[in-house]
This record gives sequence, structure tokens and C-alpha cells, in this order.
Amino acid sequence: MKTIRETVDVLVAGGGTAGHVAALQAAREGLRTAVIEAGSMLGGTMTAGGVAMPNHFFSRHGPVVQGIPWQLYCQSKEVQGLPVPDWTKRRPVETPGYYSYINVPVYAAVAEEAALKAGLWLHYHEFISEVQAQGDFWEVTSLGRGTRRITTARELIDCTGDSDVVRALGLPVMYDDIRQPGSLQYKIEGIEHEEIWEKEVQAIYEEAVAAGLIEKGDFAYPNILPFKEFLDRGGHNCSHIYEADTSSSEGQTKANIEGRSRMLRMFRFLRSSIPGCERAAIKTMAPFALARETYRTLGEYVISKKDFLEARDFPDGVCNAFNYVDMHSREQGCELTFHSEDTLLPLVPFRALIPKGSSRLTVAGRIVSAERFALAGVRAQCTCMAMGQAMGAAAALAVKKKLPSRDIPSLDIVALTVEHGAVPLQG
Ligand SMILES: Cc1cc2nc3c(=O)[nH]c(=O)nc-3n(C[C@H](O)[C@H](O)[C@H](O)COP(=O)(O)OP(=O)(O)OC[C@H]3O[C@@H](n4cnc5c(N)ncnc54)[C@H](O)[C@@H]3O)c2cc1C
Repeated sequence: MKTIRETVDVLVAGGGTAGHVAALQAAREGLRTAVIEAGSMLGGTMTAGGVAMPNHFFSRHGPVVQGIPWQLYCQSKEVQGLPVPDWTKRRPVETPGYYSYINVPVYAAVAEEAALKAGLWLHYHEFISEVQAQGDFWEVTSLGRGTRRITTARELIDCTGDSDVVRALGLPVMYDDIRQPGSLQYKIEGIEHEEIWEKEVQAIYEEAVAAGLIEKGDFAYPNILPFKEFLDRGGHNCSHIYEADTSSSEGQTKANIEGRSRMLRMFRFLRSSIPGCERAAIKTMAPFALARETYRTLGEYVISKKDFLEARDFPDGVCNAFNYVDMHSREQGCELTFHSEDTLLPLVPFRALIPKGSSRLTVAGRIVSAERFALAGVRAQCTCMAMGQAMGAAAALAVKKKLPSRDIPSLDIVALTVEHGAVPLQG
């Protein structure tokens, strides 16, 4: 095995939803920045994972997340020859925000092109396995096929989705026995929708559930949606894997197997029992199952349910966290909680992105320090990307000022992200 040594200013652990934006922000400030990514592309859950639906760039009242995430989104639309939807002409019906969709291959390639242009060092197919503090530097070991890389970095941003760096350092994390279910993304096409009658397919579905042909979670949302919705979406983002824990290869393997077996069961059921599905075909399947929550970082502050629902005006806010609370469970399926007024705009405080008792280390993404209920609102992709941009800015300022990132004033972090197109915070 070859050992490679590398020295950078900023190392981003995980190039997923939060990580690719964090790394781009630091690199665009001229810092030597590297990304260690276990998978094969940038974007994580929103690309390779198949959840290609970043919520929310806009609320009904204006932009809430812009900056680097919005630039990449717009560039990907341009490559596709598609107009960027004008938010002032959108008509939100079910939620106070605007859904967006990305084309996975285009977005992943556009993000990668932007990363290379910014001078980012990309290391795919490597897992971070060890992290040690060496004086004012981190020494991070990552392992890939035939490669052992030892990276020395001044600032480290954990964007692994499972607090891998924080756990490797033995810092405190939060992990609940009851967690939201995960999911495997797939898409069934070839359904003849004109042959589908809502009440008929509902009856067929309920009989199959009663007969044990389909299991709870194969269609995750019977509490809020008719079964016809599963057919309309071709099963995409419609199944649950209970207590999925993808934070280890063992848990990931178990979740993959359960996700694929649920997909097959539904496909067989559709083909054999639903009129109009005789010629249906599974067209796409993500290569791995996803978790909604595993290990969250215990930060210097924990965002509470009250903070999120009342949109507490944190003095150290670094980005907006506009979303409703999207809580999934085995018992209920899915429960949505909306803010009392759609003008309320929650914030992510800097302290929730600093692991308790740490220095020169921040986190971004779904591992933000938050209570479970609050996390079910804060974990939306646009917020994860905005947290990433803010922590990329914090790391960049820290290296330039020769200070630990935790000592950088949040106002300076916000100011730098605003220079890079982010939305200025209210208040
Ligand atoms: C089923 C499901 C549906 C969802 N639906 C929506 C939706 O419709 N809209 C929305 O906005 N949000 C949605 N979300 C929430 C949102 O997608 C996630 O909260 C968000 O993408 C998490 O981003 P992240 O950066 O924290 O993690 P990820 O995007 O998962 O990125 C983590 C990255 O770190 C890498 N990694 C992990 N460990 C290591 C390691 N040791 N070394 C190197 N690399 C590592 C991984 O390969 C991955 O690329 C959904 C989530 C799920 C699971």
C-alpha cells in the first residue's frame, strides 16, 4: 500500500451535501483545500443517494439560501438548457417553501468542474479512519484501495453525515435508540397512469397489506397520502427502512439489503396486482441506502424544538434554516409541522456547529447539534449546504487570521458568505 503525505490549510471530511459547498467556499478564498470522500462523486445524499430535491432556496417571501449552492444549481440548469424557475411566479400549495429538483449526473459533474476550477484537491474512494491533533495541526489518515493518505491540516470540517471525525476524536455525540427511518431511492417507470383508479388501487393495496403481501414501510406514507401517490412517483422516496444506521459498513450493508428487498416486494406486487402496471420496469436505483439521522455532534449549543419553531434570533446565527419539520417514524409514517407564520425564519447558530470542547474543528450538515425534533427541520439540503458555506468561510478566515475557527466572529463569517452571494441574515 502506497503512503501519500499531503499538507493543506483546510480538510473537509465528506464531500456530500454540506461538504462540497464547504470545500468550494474555502478554496475560493484561495486556501489549499482538500476533500476526502468515501464515495465516487460530490453531493452525497443529494446526488449519489438519489434524493435530488434540495429544499428550500426560497420561502414565499424571498430568497433564504443562495450563494454557492444557488450558483451550482443555476449552472446545472444552464447546462441542461433549462430556465431557472422564477420564484415570484411559483405557487406553493402544500408547504411555505419552494421545492427544486436537480439532474444528478449534471449537478455532480458541474460541482466537480467548479471544484477543480477552484483548485480543490479531490480524493474519492477514501475513508477517514484516524484523526489526531499534532500541536496546532490535525493529522488525518484516510484509507482507499492501495492508498494510505496522511493529511496535515490546520482546520478540519466534519461533513460526514455521521460525525465520523468527531467520534474518531472521542468528542461527545448524540445518538437515540428511536431514530427516523432511512430509505433506498429507486424509480419504477412504465406505469400506465390512465388505467389507475385511485379508489381501486387503494383497495388492492389495503387488501395486500392485510394479507401480509406487503410490509409496513414498503409504502411509507399511508397516513398522509393515498397509495396512488406511490404509483405517481414510481415509488421514488416512498419507502422506509426502520432505524437505518449507515454509520458503519455493517449497518450500511443491512440497510442496503432491506431497502432492495422492499423494492423487489413492491415491484412484484405492482406487476402482479395493479392494473396498468403489467409493463412497469425498475429504471433507476441508488447504489446505497440512506439514513435520516445517526450520530449528531454535541455542540457548544443544542438547537431546541422551541428555538426552531419560534425562529429564535441567535446573535451568532450563521445561516438561515428555513423548512418545516419533516418527522418520519415507524408508528406514524410521516408527520409535518409548520411554523405558526410563514414569515418566521429560523437560524443556525455558530455554536451548534462547534463540537463541544473542541478547537479548529467545525461540523456541517445533518450532524448539526440539534434535538431530534429540531433536526427534522434543520437537516434540509439547502440548509445543509448553507451551513457548509458558512463553515468553509469560518475555516478560511481562521487560517488567514491564524486563529482557531471557533474564535472567528459570526458576523465576519456571514459577511464573507455574503461576498460569495449568500443571503444576508435578517435582524
Ligand atoms: C430518504 C431521505 C429523504 C430526504 N428528502 C429530502 C428532501 O426531499 N429535500 C431535502 O432538502 N432534504 C431531504 N432529506 C434530508 C437531506 O437530504 C440530508 O439531511 C442531507 O443531504 C444531509 O447532508 P450531509 O452533508 O449532512 O450528508 P451527506 O449528503 O450524506 O454527505 C455525507 C458524505 O460524507 C461521506 N462520508 C461519510 N463518512 C465518511 C468518511 N469516514 N470518510 C470520508 N467520507 C465520508 C459520504 O460518502 C457522503 O458523501 C432527505 C434525507 C433522506 C435520508
